[in-house]
Amino acid sequence: MIPPTFDYTAPETIEDALRALAEAGEDAKIIAGGQSLMPVLRLRMNDPNVVIDLGRIPELRGIREEGDNLVIGAMTTHYDVIHDPLVRAHAALLVEAATTVADPQIRHRGTLGGAVAHADPAGDLSAPVLALGATMTIAGPNGRREVAAQDFFQDLFTTAIEPDEILAAITIPKHTGWSAHYEKFNLTAQAWSVVAVAAALKVSGGKIEQARVALTNMANVPLRAAGVEESLIGRNADAETIRAAAARAAEGTDPNSDGDADAGYRTHLAQVLTGRAVAAAAGL
Ligand SMILES: Cc1cc2nc3c(=O)[nH]c(=O)nc-3n(C[C@H](O)[C@H](O)[C@H](O)COP(=O)(O)OP(=O)(O)OC[C@H]3O[C@@H](n4cnc5c(N)ncnc54)[C@H](O)[C@@H]3O)c2cc1C
Repeated sequence: MIPPTFDYTAPETIEDALRALAEAGEDAKIIAGGQSLMPVLRLRMNDPNVVIDLGRIPELRGIREEGDNLVIGAMTTHYDVIHDPLVRAHAALLVEAATTVADPQIRHRGTLGGAVAHADPAGDLSAPVLALGATMTIAGPNGRREVAAQDFFQDLFTTAIEPDEILAAITIPKHTGWSAHYEKFNLTAQAWSVVAVAAALKVSGGKIEQARVALTNMANVPLRAAGVEESLIGRNADAETIRAAAARAAEGTDPNSDGDADAGYRTHLAQVLTGRAVAAAAGL
């Protein structure tokens, strides 16, 4: 279907983008890579008067080191995240997950900021961002504010970004020397996750010193698997430990039933995929 008609503007600074957003009010829609927004417009599920393109704002793009953190501009594409040496060295879990998104065309257009702002429960970047303890920088009419990932994802397709705000950057604490794996179950025809598990481990001398595990599509929002992490930390990185930890993967989850899987099957998948993700991250 052809999208409805709308005005288009492509500001060159965040301030100009915020001004355009304020002028248009609720009738505006931000476009990043357009890989989720354009299908929504084509299906006429949204009918904005004006579309504000963030693609010409240099400040929103790129990856830099800031002390113990990596700061990733919201408009950085999945492709750039995957190939960036800093992300590969300090946030390997993000690379693992971004590699599984769709196909090369979509990875060249889609952005990290657009993916987390869209907050699709089946989206593959939200759980890794949550697992890595990221902080979101949100720009608004009154300046910038920081929101922790666990407070950012609020419900199905709903985040802490207000209508007059723009997600500017995602800050990720460095996880240097951690091993990571993103294990995903999807239908053959498309790459969206039915369920997926993001796991990052710090293993030393065969012992798991630290563990970060988060789940994709086990609720309306991405979830940390706190029980799994608790069962891993301080124990040997062996099959028995991982089996016991994986059995706790569905604790505190609230999976949906839909055309892809019912809640019971998602619960089963969470346990199986957690076992695989943690084992792969541990090098087993
Ligand atoms: C065929 C297909 C298959 C796909 N498969 C997968 C998959 O397997 N896994 C996966 O994770 N994703 C998948 N995607 C989605 C892809 O990852 C998108 O890139 C991503 O969801 C949205 O990023 P975008 O930059 O294209 O955002 P857009 O589509 O431009 O925007 C998405 C939403 O976020 C808002 N938004 C965007 N940027 C900002 C910002 N900086 N501040 C405030 N609001 C903002 C927009 O207003 C819009 O509502 C797929 C998409 C397609 C078309």
